[in-house]
This record gives sequence, C-alpha cells and structure tokens, in this order.
Amino acid sequence: MKRILITGGAGFLGSHLCDRFIKEGYHVIAMDNLITGDLKNIEHLFKLPNFEFYHHDVSKFIHVPGELDYILHFASPASPIDYLKIPIQTLKVGSLGIHNCLGLARVKNARVLIASTSEIYGDPLVHPQTEDYWGNVNPVGPRGVYDEAKRFQEAMTMAYHTYHGLETRIVRIFNTYGPRMRLNDGRVLPAFIGQALRGEDLTMFGDGSQTRAFCYVDDLVEGIYRLLLSDYAQPLNIGNPDEITIKEFGDEIIKLTGTSQKLISLPLPTDDPKQRKPDISKAKEILGWEPKVSRAEGLKITYEYFKSLSQEDLHRMAH
Ligand code: NAD
Ligand code: UDP
Repeated sequence: MKRILITGGAGFLGSHLCDRFIKEGYHVIAMDNLITGDLKNIEHLFKLPNFEFYHHDVSKFIHVPGELDYILHFASPASPIDYLKIPIQTLKVGSLGIHNCLGLARVKNARVLIASTSEIYGDPLVHPQTEDYWGNVNPVGPRGVYDEAKRFQEAMTMAYHTYHGLETRIVRIFNTYGPRMRLNDGRVLPAFIGQALRGEDLTMFGDGSQTRAFCYVDDLVEGIYRLLLSDYAQPLNIGNPDEITIKEFGDEIIKLTGTSQKLISLPLPTDDPKQRKPDISKAKEILGWEPKVSRAEGLKITYEYFKSLSQEDLHRMAH
C-alpha cells in the first residue's frame, strides 16, 4: 500500500485530497495544526485503518515514522482574511514548512507536490495567465505575505529538484470552491452564500468589474492526482478558465439562493488583482486534463452543502 502525507489535511482542499487518496487505496497521513482547518472535514475518515491524523505545525520539525511515497504540502492559510490575520505564520509555513517537507522527502525518498497559487502572478499584466509569466507582485503590500511565501516555496522546491535530484511537482491552483469551505473565511463564494443565507446584503468589493475564474473542487483534485503521477516537474496551472466579473458572480448567487437582498459596494482591498483566468493549455497537453463541472452545477452542489449546515454553525461562522 502506497503511503502519502498530506499537510493541511483538515482544510478545504486537503480534506478532499484525503478522500481521493483513500479511495485510490493509499495509506493517508493527514497533518494539520487546525489554524484555519476543521476536524469535521475529516472525522468520517477516523475509523479507517489506513487513515491517521497528526496534530502538528509543519513549520516545526516533522517526524513521521515508516516509509512515505508521496508528500502533498497544502498547509497554509489561503484566504486574504486569514493570511492578513496571521501573516507571520503564513510566511513561515511557506518557507520553514516547505523546507521541513523537502527535508523529510529526501530522508524518505518521497515525491513532493506543493500547492502553489495563481497569486504568484499577483495583479497580472498578462491575460490569461500562462506558466511562463513571472508575475506582478507587491512584496511589501498586505498580500505579499502569501504571494511571496508561495513564490519562495516554488523556488525552494525547484532548488531541491535541481540540486538534490528530488522528485517534485508544482501545481498553481486558481480560485477553487466547493463543500467544506469555511463560511467565514472571507473568500467571495462563502461570503456571498453566507450573507444570502443570513438575509444580509452581499458585500461586493469595488465596482465588481474585477474578474476571477472559479474551479469546482473535484476537477482540481483530478488535476492534482494526474500531476502527481506524471513526470512533469515544472509549475502547472490547474483551474477553470470560465472567467466572470465579481458583479456577475454576485448576481448568479442572488439568483441561485433566491435571496431578496442586493449587492452593495464596499472599498476594494489593496492590491486586489483586477483580472485572473488560467491558461490551461499545458495541463490539457501534459495531463489530458480539463475541468468537467460547470459553474452552474458546482454552485448548486456547494449551495446544498451550505444549506445543510445547522443554524448554529451559520451564525457561529457569521464573520
Ligand atoms: P484551508 O485554510 O481550508 O486549508 C489550509 C489548511 O492548512 C488548514 O487546515 C490549516 O489548519 C492548515 N495549516 C495552516 N498552517 C499550518 C501549519 N503551519 N501546520 C499545519 N497545518 C497548517 O485552505 P484551502 O483552500 O484548503 O487551501 C489549501 C492549500 O491550497 C493552501 O496551501 C493554499 O495556499 C492552496 N491554494 C488554495 C486555493 C483555493 O482556491 N482554495 C487557491 C490557490 C492555492
Ligand atoms: N470579494 C468581494 N466580496 C467579498 C469577498 C471578496 O467582492 O465579500 C472580491 C475580492 O475583492 C476579489 C474577488 O472577490 O476581487 C475574489 O476574492 P477571494 O478572496 O475569493 O479570492 P482572491 O482575491 O484571493 O482571488
């Protein structure tokens, strides 16, 4: 049985990856310090003999007994609200955390895949974003703690690949959504759906003309699975290129939820990227991968999930 360590395993994406690798017959070790994650996301796996959970901060030395075939490094605060609240931990998990993972991988002779992000392109001057674009990031702006940690993480990973011959994979993830997002993590989808469910107006930042392209979580997980098993060591975009303005997205959520509330405009956060859309030609060519779930389908499933939360959870995670 192949053994895989997933850091950030109790988070949104990490927990879906745990599910996928359990389904594929792996022994899965999830590691998380629960700073933005939730054990509820993985509690259904606790009874399985091929699942283990380690409560640990990966920015500190990592010890895992036994062999490891793969390490997925997904630990990191991921939403602007989270990384603005905990900027130093964000920088540490992207630097010390990946150093620990790469060191562990050398000892275990494991392949490492890291969660990078479209944020490494910053406020992009090339559209759609191709992997060979180097980005437009403000290192000392509020988002710099996340963007630069992820850029450092890519550089460190590539150095271990080049100088130590370690097997590495780098996925640049574009805005992904689905069940198990935290309702109060501040990202636009849980923010809008949470507001609609609580009967509040939807808080659109700026005039809503900025764009994003949203990928359903199952599509992302399939892309990551294929990348891990491929022999491609360069960074690869995984995302859904179906681009939409935030205003249009707000209107879609209003329609989906049937809320009688409206979109209100709040100030645009500093350095908020004006446009974002992945060029996925490489993923298509190398992995034979492209997204399958339309935004209409994905939003419906995600809305059902949020609706199934208790009133207590809804209000506990209000802000
Ligand atoms: P999330 O906040 O739900 O998950 C992150 C997990 O990492 C949480 O469970 C958190 O407790 C854990 N964590 C954070 N710091 C840690 C540390 N020092 N030690 C151990 N665990 C720690 O966010 P997510 O959306 O699931 O994001 C997961 C990864 O994917 C992140 O690395 C993020 O940067 C990356 N990513 C996500 C998206 C997206 O759209 N969801 C886009 C680009 C990149
Ligand atoms: N956004 C918004 N209202 C909110 C939360 C976010 O209008 O309540 C906007 C935000 O300014 C950005 C877009 O939605 O332009 C996506 O934000 P998110 O935090 O989800 O992702 P990121 O900016 O990291 O792509």
